[in-house]
Amino acid sequence: MKRVAVLGSTGFIGRQTLDVVDCSGGELSVGALTAHKNVDLFLEQVHKYRPKIAGMTDLAAAEKARPHIPEGVKFIAGEEVLTAAAGSDDVDIALAAIVGIAGLPSVMAAIEAGHDVALANKEALVTGGALVTSAAKKNGCALLPVDSEHSAIFQCLQNDANKRGLSRILLTCSGGPFRTWAKEDIARAKASDALKHPTWSMGAKITIDSSTLMNKGLEIIEAGWLFDVTGDQIEVVVHPQSIIHSMVEFSDNSVLGQLGNADMRIPIQYALRYPNRVDSPAAKLDLFALKALTFEQPDTDRFPCLKLARQAMAAGGLAPTVLNAANEVAVDAYLHDQIGFYDIPALVEDMLGRAEAAAPAENIAAVYETDAVIRFAAAAAIRR
Ligand code: NDP
Repeated sequence: MKRVAVLGSTGFIGRQTLDVVDCSGGELSVGALTAHKNVDLFLEQVHKYRPKIAGMTDLAAAEKARPHIPEGVKFIAGEEVLTAAAGSDDVDIALAAIVGIAGLPSVMAAIEAGHDVALANKEALVTGGALVTSAAKKNGCALLPVDSEHSAIFQCLQNDANKRGLSRILLTCSGGPFRTWAKEDIARAKASDALKHPTWSMGAKITIDSSTLMNKGLEIIEAGWLFDVTGDQIEVVVHPQSIIHSMVEFSDNSVLGQLGNADMRIPIQYALRYPNRVDSPAAKLDLFALKALTFEQPDTDRFPCLKLARQAMAAGGLAPTVLNAANEVAVDAYLHDQIGFYDIPALVEDMLGRAEAAAPAENIAAVYETDAVIRFAAAAAIRR
């Protein structure tokens, strides 16, 4: 039995992960759970799974939850729970499903404890890429992708000859809710419009990132770290049906892809049960029910975040940390109707012009410091 630390258990990926645990026939169990603010769901999960460690990072939420924690569960309030849960001896693998750079300390803690990481939290790799991948290599930990695109690529590269023959990654993208909208209409779109994703149901931040295509930009950077490829080797292919989750092109111009319904339980289960293929709660793909699979070029004029992410990846060092911090602040402001759609790329571009974006990412402290500086500057720019 594999014991899982579910980091971000109350979120979309966290809940899907618990569903995968429920359907594992006892092969998976919950060793630790962490949540931020959702007290009711957190308590429900703690009572159902009785993990060895559980905690809430938001202190006010933690104090509400504390009196209701069952006996035998070690309860930790505040950010310390992230490293305690991820690094615990009572877990074998960490499922990183916290949103944003807030998840980076737990990913590092899991690796330092020698645990494999099933990684949904792409921002951890975008901001801490060099440090996370080198620590994982040093400690012999696997970084198992949960993002459906990266899981697809990972599945296509399951033999050494394929890894050696990799020439390009074809990273698929639904195009988001504004794929067919004119630029003037996108400019007026509210968060409530952006939250209507056509094919995937997800947390609010990633849904907004999908509408700006920053999500695809973050995924390009993530793929660079996971598969050791340059930005030039990654082509984004808009595929509105979200059935092909990504493809790999080899030196002989042969292309392999992974297909399936848009159900995150497939990549979550693959990461947790890797390398085994076991029965899934997800529905089978019905090819006859699909009318067509179509492909388009992405439009970086209407979706400039894609270009900005490539720019940050090419610059390297702390530029992706700057990109991510500015984007997190901008998305939060957009979700609260404080800024417009195109203020998101404008703010990100503005922050990428700062000196911090040209500095090397020498250590994890530099990543956190730059994140804090840019958050402060981005929030001040929004207030102006
Ligand atoms: P959600 O917003 O649904 O969930 C986020 C989780 O993180 C919740 O458990 C939340 O707790 C917790 N959390 C929020 N803020 C903090 C914080 N400051 N410190 C600690 N925990 C925090 O997001 P998703 O599940 O959609 O996404 C999670 C990650 O997975 C993201 O990085 C996303 O990009 C990635 N991902 C998501 C996919 C999807 O289909 N949703 C697909 C591929 C990747 P609480 O709810 O208690 O406040």
